[in-house]
Amino acid sequence: MDEKTKQVALVTGASRGIGKAIAIALANTGRHVLINYHTAEDAARETLTQVEASGGSGELVPFDVTDHKATEPAITTILERHGTVHILVNNAGIRNDMLLVWMELKSWHNVIDTTLTGFYNVTRPIVKEMLLKRFGRIINISSTSGQSGMPGQVNYSAAKAGLIGATQALAKEVAKRGISVNAIAPGFIDTEMLQGLPLQEIVKIIPMARLGRPEEVAALVVFLCSPEAAYITGQVIGVNGGVF
Ligand code: NDP
Repeated sequence: MDEKTKQVALVTGASRGIGKAIAIALANTGRHVLINYHTAEDAARETLTQVEASGGSGELVPFDVTDHKATEPAITTILERHGTVHILVNNAGIRNDMLLVWMELKSWHNVIDTTLTGFYNVTRPIVKEMLLKRFGRIINISSTSGQSGMPGQVNYSAAKAGLIGATQALAKEVAKRGISVNAIAPGFIDTEMLQGLPLQEIVKIIPMARLGRPEEVAALVVFLCSPEAAYITGQVIGVNGGVF
């Protein structure tokens, strides 16, 4: 693609944590970032403020990734306004931990729908445009939990393992059209998602003996979007301090 084109990057769940760091890092490399969130409008505005404070550009694109009726018109509007989305980061995710024997159907569906139905709802219309434009970078934020399985996270491990399968299959479908699809599998990253977990105990099982920083995941996203990473597709790359 034309090197001078300002790329447009959509980051789902960019109101805080890893998504926020990814949005800021992509903006810092000159991309126009579309900052998606579901409920946390003030936090998403703060992401945009930080993007603009460092000279970048962006806009808020609120929608619930699980809701097909919401994603369809929102993404149509995005494509009408920008022509295409060059970079898509499927980052929105939730956890709702519980041993399977206690897990209610609602907890199963909430977690699976956010990660997997969210991936479908957002990626399908965007990849159609990427295919026409013959360029795209899709990065799916999976988890170590989807690689090795975590007790108490049968729903989350299933969702994140499913996302790895979707990454590998889609990568093979679209590779010939200049589109790469990769997954990042973070370990324990210091965000609100870890609230309530026994962090002192967790750190003891991490070979690097510390939590990861959201910026350390964001740096890999930036690399995967660079021309130097053009030959990398269908991969699952860990950012986990050696835990897996
Ligand atoms: P946070 O809980 O800090 O942030 C989650 C983000 O997802 C928020 O911006 C939230 O927006 C958004 N979100 C949740 N549900 C929806 C929805 N239905 N539609 C749109 N946006 C939604 O999580 P992290 O930053 O820690 O996690 C980001 C991703 O990384 C997730 O996919 C998570 O599973 C994954 N991950 C995290 C790890 C960690 O240790 N932190 C480890 C491995 C993977 P809002 O508040 O507006 O709803």
